[in-house]
Amino acid sequence: MSDNRVIIAGGGIAGLAFGLTLHQIGVPFTVFEAAREMRPLGVGINLQPNAVRELFDLGITADALDRVGLPAQEWALVGLNGREVYSEPRGLGAGYSWPQYAVHRGRLHMLLYDTLVDRAGPEAVQLGAKVLSYARDGAGVFAEVQMDGVTRSERGRLLVAADGIHSAIRAQMYPDQPPIHWGGAVMWRGTVRAKPLRTVSSFVGLGTHRHRMVIYPISQPDETGTALINWIAEVTMDDAGAWQQDGWFKPVEIDEFVHHFEEFRYDWLDVPAMLRAADCAYVNPMIDRDPVPSWVDGPVALMGDAAHAMYPTGSNGASQAIVDARVIGARILEHGVTEAALSAYDAQLCGPVSELVLRNRGAGPFGLLNLLDDRCGGVFDVIDDVIPAEERRDFMANYKAAAGFAIDTLNAAPPTIGTGARVDS
Ligand SMILES: Cc1cc2nc3c(=O)[nH]c(=O)nc-3n(C[C@H](O)[C@H](O)[C@H](O)COP(=O)(O)OP(=O)(O)OC[C@H]3O[C@@H](n4cnc5c(N)ncnc54)[C@H](O)[C@@H]3O)c2cc1C
Repeated sequence: MSDNRVIIAGGGIAGLAFGLTLHQIGVPFTVFEAAREMRPLGVGINLQPNAVRELFDLGITADALDRVGLPAQEWALVGLNGREVYSEPRGLGAGYSWPQYAVHRGRLHMLLYDTLVDRAGPEAVQLGAKVLSYARDGAGVFAEVQMDGVTRSERGRLLVAADGIHSAIRAQMYPDQPPIHWGGAVMWRGTVRAKPLRTVSSFVGLGTHRHRMVIYPISQPDETGTALINWIAEVTMDDAGAWQQDGWFKPVEIDEFVHHFEEFRYDWLDVPAMLRAADCAYVNPMIDRDPVPSWVDGPVALMGDAAHAMYPTGSNGASQAIVDARVIGARILEHGVTEAALSAYDAQLCGPVSELVLRNRGAGPFGLLNLLDDRCGGVFDVIDDVIPAEERRDFMANYKAAAGFAIDTLNAAPPTIGTGARVDS
């Protein structure tokens, strides 16, 4: 095994994007993934233009992304009365040089997995391999990895933990970290075959900041005009202690929650009917973790949800995971496979992304609905009388700048990793 090997704990979107990056720049690595087989789990997620740019730079083409989702055209907020509060174009239509994609999380995950195995060989991703802990040694790090009931030490120069919100590596790095944070919102998620709303690919946030639906397609419409539509039904409970915190994706019956949305009926959408036609439904508490002061302990770094699990209000958890992968790769190109590379990554991203985690807790871009609620209890005839157009635009521009997808900044930024850059060149 090469002395320069990087051990990656976790083969989710973060770990696989990082494996693809290391393969591209010529650094040996192994991904250890706890699941025994890769399956297309989850429902819809958004890939912001900054992340799509990185996927393109990894050679994941628009054709490939079109097979797991579709380019997003519009983002719209609609009040409980069914009237538009705010809308804006997204992706290329907004002036980005790269599209935004709405994709099926599981299909994107399989695309990254198949691409990595194709390029780096099946041994690059060890399945059924749970990383338990790490120990530093002079020239690198040992990871304790459990496979088939046997625990063995795997040695690498660096260990990068992409093991998600329940990260074992983060728990070791921060043994006193508080438990997972839950602010009281419960999400029911699923998919349904239905006609897309507004445009062929609009993201629609409907309701109030404490009681809302998010609806967007994750496939192109077929010949009947229907597409695979992702929906999230969300309610914030007053008694945050009343809910058992849990992992992702527990299947649930529609009748357990549809009553929260009986009033959501408009001439352009009947939410209860849409939910009753769903082909799957899962329940998730909306959870994140308190930020930590650093993501690095010598040769060990956290990335993706292990570093910054965040509320999905800004649709940027998966995007940030991909950007993390590329930034660590870029810093390795600068500093070699060294602790200095991880420190430089930490210095660049830990502060601003931790701020983003806290900002998303405060409702992220849905904060506009909070404003609406404060000013008129969500009831309005003419939105401009309640929140002037300029104020709505400024609110969204501030959010986008903080989340790293301000249009001009992103379009003008040089690639994170230049074409053909390799550690050994
Ligand atoms: C099954 C699943 C479904 C999801 N569905 C959605 C969705 O529909 N919508 C949405 O917005 N977000 C979803 N997410 C979360 C979303 O994928 C992440 O927020 C985002 O993509 C960041 O990804 P990540 O790779 O950091 O974390 P994750 O996607 O959580 O991946 C972490 C990976 O690490 C593995 N792992 C965990 N512990 C260990 C260990 N000790 N050793 C080795 N491997 C380990 C896990 O099996 C997993 O594959 C889902 C996550 C999972 C795991």
